[in-house]
Amino acid sequence: MPTILLVEDEAVLGETLRYNLEREGHTVLHATDGVQGLELARSSQPDLVILDVMLPRLDGFSVCRILRTESAVPILMLTARQDEVDRIAGLELGADDYVIKPFSLGELLARVRAILRRGQRDTAGLQRELLQSGELKVDTGSRRMWRGNQEVVLSAKEFDLLACLMRHRGMALSRDLLLERVWGYEFIGDSRTVDVHVRWLREKIERDPSQPEYVTTVRGIGYRFQSPEDVPAPAHS
Ligand code: CA
Repeated sequence: MPTILLVEDEAVLGETLRYNLEREGHTVLHATDGVQGLELARSSQPDLVILDVMLPRLDGFSVCRILRTESAVPILMLTARQDEVDRIAGLELGADDYVIKPFSLGELLARVRAILRRGQRDTAGLQRELLQSGELKVDTGSRRMWRGNQEVVLSAKEFDLLACLMRHRGMALSRDLLLERVWGYEFIGDSRTVDVHVRWLREKIERDPSQPEYVTTVRGIGYRFQSPEDVPAPAHS
């Protein structure tokens, strides 16, 4: 039975979420401030953290940043502000997904199901793959990746995105297809999620993220993975 850590200080929302998550069969731990949330995340090793941004004692941004340096646990953030989305999904934090308040309960539960389903499939270890391209090495069994001899720590979503791109090396993958494969559901009309995760992935795997060698943009479509050695050298004249 998956354990979900819910970090939310608003009493009514917290209780509603707790009740409904338990009804779905999850074990729910509920923290009402950031410090307690961090402590519970460390002591209970949950399968998913649902993390509010505005929290007493330590805000959700800080909790997320700290947690991400310690663990690859999926993090779903709750925000009240559209303008926080870039920060949440972007480089500095590494949350896996987010919903903007007010959200429908159905939407939140769908996200939770998708994240947990994804996690179960990954930990089942049924298909261990070693993907290698250029300097990059990915082991889907241990969910680790390296650039040269250096291990690179990726969030769960970055990892899945990279693995998906590498499996289809050389193919242009649309944002919609990536959303479906990596996020596992029809994202509510916002393919920008893919773009921010790609941007973030590039910061970690590319030598120069502004001149990506591995994850290249296919204008009007999405992204294509290639290895630098796949690119034919310009002919000498
Ligand atoms: Ca709050």
